[in-house]
Amino acid sequence: MRDIQMVDLRGQYEKIKPEVNSEILNVLDSGAYINGPLVKSLANDLGEYIGSSHCIPCGNGTDALQIALMALGLEPGDEVITVPFTFIATAEVISLLNLKTVFVDVEPGTYNMKMDAVEAAITEKTKCIIPVHLFGQAVNMESLMKLADAHGIPVLEDNAQSLGAEYLFTDGTRTKVGNVGKISTTSFYPSKSLGCYGDGGAIFTSDDELAANIRMIVNHGSKEKYYHEVVGVNSRLDSIQASILGIKLKKLDEYIVERQKAAAFYDNGLAGIAGLQTPTKSSYSTHIYHQYTLTVDDKRDELHEALSAKGIPTMVYYPVPLHLQKAYPNEGGAGSFPVSESLASKVLSLPMHTELQEDQLEFIVESIVNFFK
Ligand SMILES: *Cc1c(COP(=O)(O)O)cnc(C)c1O
Repeated sequence: MRDIQMVDLRGQYEKIKPEVNSEILNVLDSGAYINGPLVKSLANDLGEYIGSSHCIPCGNGTDALQIALMALGLEPGDEVITVPFTFIATAEVISLLNLKTVFVDVEPGTYNMKMDAVEAAITEKTKCIIPVHLFGQAVNMESLMKLADAHGIPVLEDNAQSLGAEYLFTDGTRTKVGNVGKISTTSFYPSKSLGCYGDGGAIFTSDDELAANIRMIVNHGSKEKYYHEVVGVNSRLDSIQASILGIKLKKLDEYIVERQKAAAFYDNGLAGIAGLQTPTKSSYSTHIYHQYTLTVDDKRDELHEALSAKGIPTMVYYPVPLHLQKAYPNEGGAGSFPVSESLASKVLSLPMHTELQEDQLEFIVESIVNFFK
């Protein structure tokens, strides 16, 4: 059996190595390293994949969130609703823009934003809601959009973890996650579902005016070179990363199937163990398993140690909810968001990537089953 890894980027690269290497060399030969034709064609392909009229690539997923908030034209002090059970980037950009973070708790099953908590948190100062599609499946967007539309609040989807998942509406129609709100962002960090070999991100919208604004902001607030209409930023995807993403976008749906197969193996092998819950799948989203995350009652850290001793890596995403981080001393402290706090002490993510072998999966499942015997 090969060594088990949390994420096997090297193994995935080996399978596409000739194509990737030759594309990278083509970029080097072309001399178009920034804003070249490859970046434009990737943006077109990604927009088409998601179903949005516009895709604007940028430097990373955190920049994408910040630029999206800037483009929405919020004023300092405006309130932005999001969850404390997410990666810091989601809240960080709100704070950096001098906006007010308003946290709402998540659901224990899906780990995603709780709708009645959002409803209770809306005030006349709420100017944006950022649902985070955590671990590979969507927030309940149909309910969220109803709520947001009733108050005229734009919804910004943080889709860094669920690019490629599908949203399933109650009327039977479907679209890609990231194509439901007014605007969405994603990340091409190497371990994400569509990862490059460096940093990258993108912003999606079907609103022409908003798209024009975003294109200006990412380019130093400029439409015409050396003329600056607003204070913007410099955030770009480079051509080498675009060439790699172009190759991997064609394989994204196959990669997702590989992840779903591994998840199904875990689901079957780990069903019915007392003290352990496998991931809850919602009725309104497919799951692309950015993470396969268990909740473990009481013995989470012991399970982590026992698996580690057998050469099985596991990770805790996330050990401290954002309202308990030192960076956020004024968000209510312990007891404010009980579900997020409880999850932080119970969640454990298993190895999840496109290269997991059957013998590895069997060994992981068997080791967990034996732990609970
Ligand atoms: C990864 C991630 C980001 C940030 O993406 P970077 O490319 O690392 O800047 C933002 N939000 C969530 C939920 C993420 O998982």
